[in-house]
Amino acid sequence: MPTMRVLQLSAEIFPLLKTGGLADIAGALPAALGAAGCDVRVLLPGFPAIIAGLHDAVPIGQFTMPWGHPVQVLAGNLPAVPDAARQPIHAYVLHAPDLFERPGSPYEDAQRRPYADNHRRFAALGWAAAHLAHGLDATWAPQLVHGHDWHAALALACLRHWPDGRVKRVPCVYTVHNLAYQGLFDARLFGDLGLPAAAYQVDGLEFHGQISFMKAGLFYADKITTVSPTYAREIQTPEQGFGLDGLLRARHGDLSGILNAVDAAVWNPALDPHITKHFDADHLAGKAGCKAALQQECGLKIDKGAPLFTVVSRLTEQKGLNLVLAGIDEILRGGGQLLVLGSGEHALEQAFTEAAHRHDGQVAVRLGYDELFAHRIFSGSDVTLVPSRFEPCGLTQIYGLLYGSLPLVRAVGGLADTVVDADLATLADHTATGIVFASFTEADYRHAVRRALALYRQPRAWARVRQTGMRQDFSWTQAATHYTTIYQALMDP
Ligand code: ADP
Repeated sequence: MPTMRVLQLSAEIFPLLKTGGLADIAGALPAALGAAGCDVRVLLPGFPAIIAGLHDAVPIGQFTMPWGHPVQVLAGNLPAVPDAARQPIHAYVLHAPDLFERPGSPYEDAQRRPYADNHRRFAALGWAAAHLAHGLDATWAPQLVHGHDWHAALALACLRHWPDGRVKRVPCVYTVHNLAYQGLFDARLFGDLGLPAAAYQVDGLEFHGQISFMKAGLFYADKITTVSPTYAREIQTPEQGFGLDGLLRARHGDLSGILNAVDAAVWNPALDPHITKHFDADHLAGKAGCKAALQQECGLKIDKGAPLFTVVSRLTEQKGLNLVLAGIDEILRGGGQLLVLGSGEHALEQAFTEAAHRHDGQVAVRLGYDELFAHRIFSGSDVTLVPSRFEPCGLTQIYGLLYGSLPLVRAVGGLADTVVDADLATLADHTATGIVFASFTEADYRHAVRRALALYRQPRAWARVRQTGMRQDFSWTQAATHYTTIYQALMDP
């Protein structure tokens, strides 16, 4: 198979800039696709953290945005994650300080309001991809463009509507990491995007009288993927389609669900440099040390017999954290402890903080985003709570599995695809890996917590479920093969 030149386009990339799972995937995919025979480069917005992390940067060209500003594209290398075999990632970065060099969140101001010019910021990214596909870098042009989430979606419209009349058919793949975030903008801003009027219609990026970047991705992509098979089915229904289910049903022949994988150079309890003691599925002694250190670090009572339930999450409605709040007494009644690391909605932050004050030594909360603390949490945790209302894939339940912390999840999206509920049959045939509950109700969640507590009181069964979870294969090989099969089919139609 000849090497394919693929441009990956995303707003975030681990380890430089991460607000959620998108960054983990964007960071791991280049190496995984490289191993599968692709020549991958990434294109990113020039956020401060990305500019700061770009090595050997050289300008390779510039172009003018529709509103008249010139922007420059840099080429350089991103640091590879620590892995002796890993090559640095070749990156293009859109260097536009007036658009991207702002402190704090990449998408919102200090009051958590989306920036008023987000349409311009991510249109600029889209045009940069289109220019690269049309020879901005004389030494390398992609044969295929792969965009991730709405920030990257306008690239697909820019490629289809490339203005010089010599439209080059560069095949495009678009991956939905979360359909809830759509990039909707007032129709009056359409003139800023630099697209012809023909793009603003139902067969294009018009969505109920607004501009939808997400719809641009879904409409113009040659192939659409999302991050789990179950989510690929769910987004075709009115309940989870966010108004785009009709388009997704119409395109179901081009839509597939590819389960996210995990970068073993980053998430592996046998090698993880950020945890107190190492362990693996056959040598679990170190996990007790991690748990004691975690309890001490968070002001929880140091008690190896108390099942430690943990949450590492954005604090948003999606993640089912109201269930966690409502069920705190259930955990405590069963002798358990709760630790939450998260940031997001003020009301949730406040409610968890109050719960920690009320239950000193049994409930602990750390507000904020802390990558290394997250590693220590998974290493010391007994149960990883992910009771989401919806969940495209979810990574924390997978980190829980790999770190010997049983996931307690709702049967939705990628959670349903990654965790096997411990019932009599799955306990008997040793396929159980966690606790799964069906409906998004307090009663069902509480029952799941009670089941987790009961299982914890059966140490042999618990140990077996934990070991089965730790042995699951979430490596990138299968996912990378799936993506490259899609790429290949587009290259030789
Ligand atoms: P989403 O992308 O919807 O936020 P995922 O489970 O796919 O959910 O990915 C979340 C990623 O962000 C995981 O790597 C998780 O460990 C990390 N994460 C979420 N919140 C925090 C936090 N407060 N501190 C550190 N890491 C976090």
